[in-house]
Amino acid sequence: VADLDERPFPPGDYDVVVVGSGPGGLQTSYCLRRLGVRHAVLSADDGPAGMFQRFPVLGRLISWTQVEAPFERGTREYELYDWNSLLADEPEHRALVAEFMNADLDVPTREDMEQALVAFAARTELAVRYGCRWEATRQEGANLVLVSSDGEYRCRAAVFATGVTEPWKPKIPGIEHVPHYADARPAAHYRGKRVLIIGKGDAGFELAQGLLASARQVTLASPAPARATVLERASGRIGYLQTHGDHGPLVLDASIEWIEHGPDGFEINMKGTTQEGDLELEADEVIAATGFRTPLGDLPELGVATVAHGRIPALTPFWESISVPGVYFAGNATQGGPGLRKHGAFSGSVSVGGHRYNARVLAEHLAESRLGMRRQRRELPRGDLVPYLLSELTRAPELWIQKGYLARALTCASETGIQDEGFLPLEHFVDEAGPNAVAITVEMDACGTTYPAVYVRVNGELNEHVLPPHPTDDFEAEEHQRELAACLQPLL
Ligand SMILES: Cc1cc2nc3c(=O)[nH]c(=O)nc-3n(C[C@H](O)[C@H](O)[C@H](O)COP(=O)(O)OP(=O)(O)OC[C@H]3O[C@@H](n4cnc5c(N)ncnc54)[C@H](O)[C@@H]3O)c2cc1C
Repeated sequence: VADLDERPFPPGDYDVVVVGSGPGGLQTSYCLRRLGVRHAVLSADDGPAGMFQRFPVLGRLISWTQVEAPFERGTREYELYDWNSLLADEPEHRALVAEFMNADLDVPTREDMEQALVAFAARTELAVRYGCRWEATRQEGANLVLVSSDGEYRCRAAVFATGVTEPWKPKIPGIEHVPHYADARPAAHYRGKRVLIIGKGDAGFELAQGLLASARQVTLASPAPARATVLERASGRIGYLQTHGDHGPLVLDASIEWIEHGPDGFEINMKGTTQEGDLELEADEVIAATGFRTPLGDLPELGVATVAHGRIPALTPFWESISVPGVYFAGNATQGGPGLRKHGAFSGSVSVGGHRYNARVLAEHLAESRLGMRRQRRELPRGDLVPYLLSELTRAPELWIQKGYLARALTCASETGIQDEGFLPLEHFVDEAGPNAVAITVEMDACGTTYPAVYVRVNGELNEHVLPPHPTDDFEAEEHQRELAACLQPLL
């Protein structure tokens, strides 16, 4: 019997190769296909959904989808209420997570998310070569060669959507006795026990919430205070701490000095950070929710630079390795492109809600800059500019979810008029020279106030304008019209 392999994308030459079939890989492939970019998608998995086939371990996401919302499912505005579904041009392929989840909850279960991603891949007929592992990489002239378990793939650019799921632990004496979050047991295992969770990131708070009802005591400890974004999401959206008031988990800002494991459990020695002093703690179970790293394979040997103790690739604003051209990243790894971080704000790139927009920008960038496929720009009559920009500032999900990170840009030249460039990384717009143009974004200051920001570039000089906030985030009233028109005057 002939050994027929009917899987798509046999080894060979492609313009772009995407590795991974999690949300990042699927979204990137969807966007590349719609632009007509010849590409292959490889995945070591047997089916779509990536890490949502097994994470989060306790089964509930932290990013929300509001099934009933002020806008109809499938509209662009609804994306603001649904941080989990992938993006599609066809309304029937949008907002799929809402279709699978329980309308009484505001966050999906892991299974809901997995089903929605499987449905997205099936309904949009996204082809992936499953069961194909990328094993090594080399450069050949301007091309990259990805060596896989099925053979060699030669391409002009590779997009690694390999996630950030390899367990990572800091060097602490005794931590080898502590299971990582990825190996945490079902909640029932911790019933009636004193549990110490090392780490105050999303995974730490997810565990804390999941164990609060059954564990005797839950303590979270790590040197840095919890990031506002985590606390906002945690207490604001699903009440990790809020519902328990003062009787929730104990949250300690302390560096763990050593951990001793004996027959009666764990003894942990800590040093306070925000408040000085030594702390001793006993726990029946300890879990290291200390983070993950991107599976980078041999890319560091190829010269791919990293940040965060080697965990994350260091990326340009368009998510290309800062040190090896042609090596791009999608999905959660796009957090390696930090953006401007004005007021210290983080991008939303670690979650599907944020990196789904990065994927669309990346696909357009690859098509234009690597493959010379210039897309059509929409022209805008001069009189429409102010109302259009204010409407985008008020409701564009790209701007509201990727605050201060993605911007809508329009160029302005006497020969071509006003042209809509679509969404770009704000950092790229601010740092690169270019034609006369305006970029708008929604920013958040250190107090959490959101306001529109306008960047106007005329004859190579960039000016930044901040428009006033509005109690209901409606930026279309007269005050904003007047102020925006004044900012645009030098451009027009
Ligand atoms: C514990 C945890 C909880 C999280 N909770 C949420 C949440 O609630 N909401 C949210 O939006 N985000 C959450 N995230 C972030 C999440 O990682 C991203 O949002 C997103 O799922 C990542 O998608 P991805 O496509 O980048 O990677 P993944 O989903 O991790 O997919 C990686 C893909 O790459 C493939 N791959 C890896 N190495 C190779 C190789 N060598 N060869 C071939 N294929 C390979 C894998 O098989 C897989 O298909 C969480 C992350 C963690 C770790």
